[in-house]
Amino acid sequence: MNVYDGQRLAALLEKRGMAPATDVADADVILLNTCAVRAKATDKVYSALGRIRRVKKPDALMGIVGCVARESGGDAFRRVPDLNFVLGPQSYHKIIDILDNPDTKLLNIDMGGLEKFDALPPMTKSPLVAYIPVQEGCNHCCTYCIVPYTRGREISRAPIDVMRDVKTAVDGGAIEICFLGQNVNGYNYIDENGVTHRLSELIRETAKIDAVKRIRFTSSYPTEMTDDLIDMFRLEPKLLPFLNMPIQSGSPDVLTRMNRPSDANQYIDIVTRLRAARPDIQISSDFIVGFPGETDTDFDQTMAIAKHIGYINSYCFKYSPRPHTAAATMPNQIPDQIKAVRLAKLDGLLNEIQRTFNESCRDKIFDCLFEGPDKTGRHLVYRTPFMQQTIVVREQNGHTPPMARIRITDANKASLRGEFVD
Ligand code: SF4
Repeated sequence: MNVYDGQRLAALLEKRGMAPATDVADADVILLNTCAVRAKATDKVYSALGRIRRVKKPDALMGIVGCVARESGGDAFRRVPDLNFVLGPQSYHKIIDILDNPDTKLLNIDMGGLEKFDALPPMTKSPLVAYIPVQEGCNHCCTYCIVPYTRGREISRAPIDVMRDVKTAVDGGAIEICFLGQNVNGYNYIDENGVTHRLSELIRETAKIDAVKRIRFTSSYPTEMTDDLIDMFRLEPKLLPFLNMPIQSGSPDVLTRMNRPSDANQYIDIVTRLRAARPDIQISSDFIVGFPGETDTDFDQTMAIAKHIGYINSYCFKYSPRPHTAAATMPNQIPDQIKAVRLAKLDGLLNEIQRTFNESCRDKIFDCLFEGPDKTGRHLVYRTPFMQQTIVVREQNGHTPPMARIRITDANKASLRGEFVD
């Protein structure tokens, strides 16, 4: 979502005749597009602002947008007095106002619903992967999560608007469409005739477009994985066999305190149905270790479910108390040393699972999407249908097909190596 927001902010500024600066010291406008999901991310924003204010031009406009802006509100001006603007995730299109009135301070953290989408200029040129938001916000209220506060209640965009964005992106060069939402599979739009539109319909319509070669969506809530959506994995080959469906913990007690579905059998049943629909599907998850009250037994249950499902490419984090959330004031907060030990243990297991999966890909051939050159410029980076990073030696003739058949020749935990098949 932040990548998408960043692209749209850049498009807004470019429409005003601005261009990216190569160095922050040369910039006329400096904005940090921020994430508030963990305390560390918020801290990093303020230390970055401290560094930037020492090198920026005296008259450069500096501000924050996104979830930290919403979280901090007017307090951000107190912490960093030379900030010029603080714009929440649903009001960042108002950045134009500060360009028109650079001598004012601009604070807007309103939850404007879908208004911003109408205010954003169409993306006439698209990267190969186009991020298309279908909904914003979340109604689930997990007790650790700041998203319902920073992004608000769920709101789904009309299918006609989503499909217009898909077609514009495809005309601009996109060949992979990634539907986005904090609770993307909760997408639920009821039109003026009372007809309900679901994510499966958007996938079906998008798959009909010849130029679209791959479709995915993120991030999914387990119990919103309805039959029509599971069926898409059976019916639409363009839908990638890879799904991020966070479980967060394997302990029913912890999940209950997190206000998440606590029945592991229900989760396992969803994965079983997904695998029946698409036998090669791979699942990734997010995990939180050290949630308030998490015992060794609870943690062992998390290790057990991680092993049982065999998640690839997952993320695990130490629990971090966030303002405006119920878990921040729960009793039995876990000491950091215990969190660190559990994190290392779970990370070790997830890395091992990922390494085993990557090694199982050796000698297989995949249709892969070009992502860009690597840092050295001597290699090309592609993504398999399971989103594994795949490194290919750049050929003499500079041939970089947007989609390529690649045979996997080597694998480690983090990435694959491969060669073009033809
Ligand atoms: S479902 Fe995801 S976005 Fe919604 S409250 Fe829970 S963790 Fe946050």
